Amino acid sequence: MTYAVVNCPRCKKLVVASLRYKSRTCPYCGARIPLKGQYVTFKTAKDARLFKAKLQGLLK
Ligand SMILES: [Zn+2]
Repeated sequence: MTYAVVNCPRCKKLVVASLRYKSRTCPYCGARIPLKGQYVTFKTAKDARLFKAKLQGLLK
């Protein structure tokens, strides 16, 4: 399984998504996030969440 950290186009929050699907529903605002393009990918959801936490720390 491959995971990526993506930006919601509506609320701009970071969301961990499985790239197994073509889109992901944002857990914050409910927008549909299309999963296409280039992402930094992770083999586990845990790694993706750690990366997301790091990014959020940098953005603060
Ligand atoms: Zn959102």
